[in-house]
Amino acid sequence: MENVHKTKNRPWISDKLSVKEFRDKWCQTLASSKCGTKDQFKMTDSEYSDLEEKCGLSAMKCPAQNYIEITKDFNIPEGVDLETLRLQKEDVQKRQEDMAYATVVYSFSKFYNYPLHKIAGYDKENPDLPYEQIQEPEILLCVQIFRPEQKCPPYETHPLRIPNFHIDQEFMVLGCQYLTELRDKIECVSDKAIPGDYSKCPKLAPEVTCKELYKSGFFYFNDVFYNDMRHPDCRDYSETIISWAENGNHGIGPFKKAFMERTKFIDLEIQLGYPYVYVHQGNCEHLVVFSDLQYYTHHHCTNRHAYPVHVTFRPKKRVLCMICHIHTAEWVVFDNKRVAENPTYFCKQCFFAFNYDENDQAIGNFRAYHHVDRSNIL
Ligand SMILES: [Zn+2]
Ligand SMILES: [Zn+2]
Repeated sequence: MENVHKTKNRPWISDKLSVKEFRDKWCQTLASSKCGTKDQFKMTDSEYSDLEEKCGLSAMKCPAQNYIEITKDFNIPEGVDLETLRLQKEDVQKRQEDMAYATVVYSFSKFYNYPLHKIAGYDKENPDLPYEQIQEPEILLCVQIFRPEQKCPPYETHPLRIPNFHIDQEFMVLGCQYLTELRDKIECVSDKAIPGDYSKCPKLAPEVTCKELYKSGFFYFNDVFYNDMRHPDCRDYSETIISWAENGNHGIGPFKKAFMERTKFIDLEIQLGYPYVYVHQGNCEHLVVFSDLQYYTHHHCTNRHAYPVHVTFRPKKRVLCMICHIHTAEWVVFDNKRVAENPTYFCKQCFFAFNYDENDQAIGNFRAYHHVDRSNIL
């Protein structure tokens, strides 16, 4: 794969590293005899507090931070001549005067992060979650799941692949967890979609989602395809790709394959920052990036069952009904000659009012599918 994605030109991608080796090296460095508890680190309490004071988050605060705030009364303190503050003041003012600009800024703000203490207290917020102490030594991996690749419209004769570089969800996983535990936490509209044309029976309650119907999927990390084969219906998606790579001069491969449900994160070899892939629902492709690898400490949530912890989320824009422009779309209609757009998105009320008569008979011919809006999940 190095022939395609040249890591030497991308300084943010780390060298290949074994997760297990990383854990063991840290363990040797930090512990005198055996790893595990705080007492085993070679530091006294006063050395700990000294280190905390010098390297902790509070050391990153600047003296004026307590009174510089982003409010409408944002004022640059006297004697401070920073270009960043001048630009910030201008921007805050623009947001107050221009609502459209403010909306764009807030919707594109990178993330809403859960504060660290909230992650640490994750189990307290879920009292029903069973408790199981994490076995040490342990590591934590930060995994970013990107939005699915954008699909070309079906009428395109030479469909292009359009990668989507927006991070959709971010998780902290433990080394002892199986890859399937992460897969089960990833939320995607392709899984929630309801298959089938419901134009003849729009009031029929949907019976099944795509996730229940099509269970296959794989992660691709470091030349290995990890296929989810937990269910007898699961198909090995990687087989076609592996034989394609073997039987042509594509300059990639050879690839290996393994079971997702039998592989733990601790057994992986990874490169931090490298774009790996998660594929499910046939062709729903998400880039997956390991952005951080750290040694587990008692600052983190101690309940194994709370992981993978969902640490960030991104607000999602909803698809509006194209008739009333008020409600979120719940239906998508194809090939309806009575509307200008194909497809057309409808909210529930507009869908029935526009497409069906008083006897619930469809007006004209069209195909109608349930639309699951991205803003409704997660
Ligand atoms: Zn997906
Ligand atoms: Zn509507």
